[in-house]
Amino acid sequence: RIYAIGSFVVACSVKVARLPRAGESLDADAFVAEPGGKGFNLALAAHRLGAVVDGVFAIGGDPFAAVAVSAFEGAGLATDMLLKRSGSTGAGIGFIDKAGENCLAVSLGANRELAAEDVAPAKIGDCNLVMATFESPDAPIAAAFAAARSRGIRTLLNPSPSRPIDAQILAHTSILIVNRVEAVDCGIDIADETTLERVMQAGPEIVVVTLGKDGAVAFSRCEPPRWQAAVAVTAVDTIGAGDAFSAGFAVTLLQGGSIEEALTRAAACGAITAARFGAFDAFPTAFELERFCEA
Ligand code: ADP
Repeated sequence: RIYAIGSFVVACSVKVARLPRAGESLDADAFVAEPGGKGFNLALAAHRLGAVVDGVFAIGGDPFAAVAVSAFEGAGLATDMLLKRSGSTGAGIGFIDKAGENCLAVSLGANRELAAEDVAPAKIGDCNLVMATFESPDAPIAAAFAAARSRGIRTLLNPSPSRPIDAQILAHTSILIVNRVEAVDCGIDIADETTLERVMQAGPEIVVVTLGKDGAVAFSRCEPPRWQAAVAVTAVDTIGAGDAFSAGFAVTLLQGGSIEEALTRAAACGAITAARFGAFDAFPTAFELERFCEA
């Protein structure tokens, strides 16, 4: 059972032959608007893998709020996790090129209004993991992580979009998952173990750095660095690959798997998602993951 400090964003994207340059308008091949947001994607990906997901997500009072309600219902996630706030529902716009590369900008809107008081410590007590991304403000993350750690419950932080990590949040983070950009912002150089030691002394037991199609590397206090190659697939859209990876890693550890098993399954989740368009429909179910790993 997982408690998510969530975020919700209506993710609009256009498919283009190449990413546009400043001042240029391109003829796009397709337009897609789908429910997303890093917090929602992480929660959805974990739910598809069989985890029971609880948590809090802030939405606005605008028409996009209805997209959140139907997305939660459609995915089988409880809508009582959705809190109505005064701002607009999070929304973003992205470009995806033929190689699956993307760039995007997100207006977080109501997600910024999630507060420490919105976190339910009693519900956290019923969970085995609390997870958060940086599409949520520091206050609810800090409150939830402190509540979790005081009960001996593990926490997972994906500090994306990147901002400096509050020392208190880092102290209460058990698993830190960063991509290349976030790793640099955390002062991590994977070629220099002293940089990892410094971060791990400040809190996390496990640090995973994801490297896109070059795979990932996990550092932990109890074993040497463990490299994981990416699974070779034809990537069509890497949006959500990192969220799928984090969910696969977390759910495998929750099921009692080792770091090695968690990395293998996380990489499979990332690859399956990168090989499919969009994010909402791209996250694998537990069954699809098993089939993919057996093949
Ligand atoms: P983020 O999306 O957060 O920036 P990454 O791009 O590092 O994260 O991707 C996360 C993980 O997803 C990678 O470690 C890898 O396992 C998988 N992945 C991403 N892109 C690809 C790809 N093109 N082919 C196969 N796996 C991929």
